Amino acid sequence: MTIDRIKGINPIKNLEMSTNPFQYKRANSVDDALEALNGDAKILAGGHSLLPAMKLRLFSADTLVDISKIESLKGIQVDGETIIIGAGTTHQAIADSEVVQEHIPLFAQVAGKIGDVQVRNVGTIGGSLAHADPAADWPAALLACHATVVLQSSSNTREIPADEFFTGMFSTALADSELITQIKVPSHTGFICRYEKFVQPASRFALVGCAICIKQDDDAISQATVAYTGLADTPFVDKGASAALQGGSLNQESIEAAVEARDQSVYVMSDHFASESYRKHLAGVMLERALQGAV
Ligand code: FAD
Repeated sequence: MTIDRIKGINPIKNLEMSTNPFQYKRANSVDDALEALNGDAKILAGGHSLLPAMKLRLFSADTLVDISKIESLKGIQVDGETIIIGAGTTHQAIADSEVVQEHIPLFAQVAGKIGDVQVRNVGTIGGSLAHADPAADWPAALLACHATVVLQSSSNTREIPADEFFTGMFSTALADSELITQIKVPSHTGFICRYEKFVQPASRFALVGCAICIKQDDDAISQATVAYTGLADTPFVDKGASAALQGGSLNQESIEAAVEARDQSVYVMSDHFASESYRKHLAGVMLERALQGAV
């Protein structure tokens, strides 16, 4: 592992002026990164969420462990019916991947809608998942595709289903000693998948984002998953809407039934961007648009 003092790296130097002092370590391998993850150390991937949060003094760390040069954390592979995405893969690399476009087109759609081109070229899927911003786009995709998040510590590797990974606002099943190394996604060829997002115009985050994945056998829907981000403090699968779609055909009548059957028991966020009632309204509109797009 190379250990550099942060002076001389302009963006970080600027950052130092507005945060507490910290050490910078560049990890050359996953083992290197895990070894450095002790005390008050934090992983630095794209830095697009961590650095703004440190500038705002919402986060601090003694040490930043830079994983952006670890090649084994980058890239997309096919393993039988599973697509494996390295946690350090950028949003843009996922949007551009032919493997993703063919096997998990929902992931290509979602990646292409994140932020702007600068954010997509530097931000990583692992960083987004670890940060667990309630308005982030990736959680809806992982939930709709029943993906699994692979977590590695120096002594253990565990695979957590997406619906157990997100535990609250900015909160996940990830332990301080763990690194997200991979995201495993079942191939969704033959599914119709759509992501509709009502964009918060200043940040480009999802005010409400709705992902759907539907499989039809003959004319009947045999599998349907509807997942939301931005609506509640934790992304979730809407079991009511998903169940309403099962067994029927995809048409105006079933779309209206699914919108009507949305889970109303979920706590819905209210903030200065959108009230609870407006978010609920948007949830119906985004679901209807996603299903209309699927038709
Ligand atoms: P970092 O900022 O480096 O890290 C974020 C957190 O994750 C830190 O706590 C870090 O320690 C931890 N971490 C990083 N990688 C790992 C890992 N492999 N294992 C364990 N912990 C890890 N996101 C959206 O979803 N939709 C948007 O529309 C959107 N718009 C944006 C617009 C702007 C202007 C900006 C600045 C960001 C936007 N983002 C958006 C967030 C963006 O996608 C970030 O890239 C992402 O949230 C964090 O990824 P990162 O690689 O930059 O992680």
